[in-house]
Amino acid sequence: MLAALKSTGATRVLDLGCGEGRLLQALLKEKQFSEIVGMDVSHRALAIAHDRLHYDRLPPVQKARLRFLHGSLIYRDQRFAGFDAAAVVEVIEHLDAARLAAFERVLFECLKPKHIVITTPNREYNVKWETLPAGKFRHRDHRFEWTRAEFQEWANRVAARFGYNDRFLPVGPEDAVVGSPTQIGIFERK
Ligand code: SAH
Repeated sequence: MLAALKSTGATRVLDLGCGEGRLLQALLKEKQFSEIVGMDVSHRALAIAHDRLHYDRLPPVQKARLRFLHGSLIYRDQRFAGFDAAAVVEVIEHLDAARLAAFERVLFECLKPKHIVITTPNREYNVKWETLPAGKFRHRDHRFEWTRAEFQEWANRVAARFGYNDRFLPVGPEDAVVGSPTQIGIFERK
């Protein structure tokens, strides 16, 4: 994830649906990123991220690189326009069909960063977890979990519609049959 973002050469990055700030913490350690914005619809998640990164005690130089903004991925919001890259990590599977459609337009049509990195669970991998009953999702709040083919089909359609190229990477241990637990799509604006 971090490697994918670094390889885009981005310096100003968004973490959309940043949750409790795991990725933000990693981004802050990388000098490449001069402006980092964590956004989430959950005030609680933002408060946890804020504490986790000890935001109030960060040295001024570090603090100047990081901002938290409350917002939603399903509404157009110019505060998030003009960035080099956006990460959307384990978020899309929380959106129902109508919200996912709104999200596509907000991110790829309105904000349109040069690079977009999206991760989502690979449903095929679920059989590797003995504790997960067959046919069940990994989290109660997931609206869907896609196979690799389903994710790539969605990504290809979105990329074609909004003028991006896309490619895919596995994340985590890779199984010859079912792939890896998480799948990443990397989009680059043409
Ligand atoms: N990216 C984080 C969190 C993933 S959990 C990580 O990888 O750890 C999913 C997150 O998406 C939650 O924090 C949830 O509040 C956020 N989310 C769900 N719907 C959203 C929306 N419409 N806009 C912004 N964030 C949203």
